Amino acid sequence: MEIIQICPKCGLPAVEVNVKAVRFNIIEAQQALINVKNKWSVCINPACDCSNFSKTREFSTANLNVSLFFKDNSDNVPICYCSNLTRGEIKEAVKNGCKSIDDVQNYTKKDITGMCEERNPLSKCCRNVFLKTISDSLNKD
Ligand SMILES: [Zn+2]
Repeated sequence: MEIIQICPKCGLPAVEVNVKAVRFNIIEAQQALINVKNKWSVCINPACDCSNFSKTREFSTANLNVSLFFKDNSDNVPICYCSNLTRGEIKEAVKNGCKSIDDVQNYTKKDITGMCEERNPLSKCCRNVFLKTISDSLNKD
């Protein structure tokens, strides 16, 4: 049975992630502190600066190579981490007529997919977040 993980800093429920995503997203200088045998999670509370944590270790967002789309709503944050396709690039693509994921991928020439498990900080596919970003941008015009 899966047990809900709790962020050690803010105390809110967190999302369990593949350790591959932790290794990919944590800065080089902290890599040695990642015990691959432990369960790892990520805090999704935007107000909390904890990023990945295990039973014995806690990293902050400052220990990451990337910004987290669910904690940072600025334009230079990736939405698709496989392609390093940012929120701002999606907005720009929509401004220029793109209406679907395919449109945006063609427009930006950023169409790498399939590495979600290790690159996306939630270890999951960005599809729904990508679609939401497109529809939010469409609704703004
Ligand atoms: Zn937290």
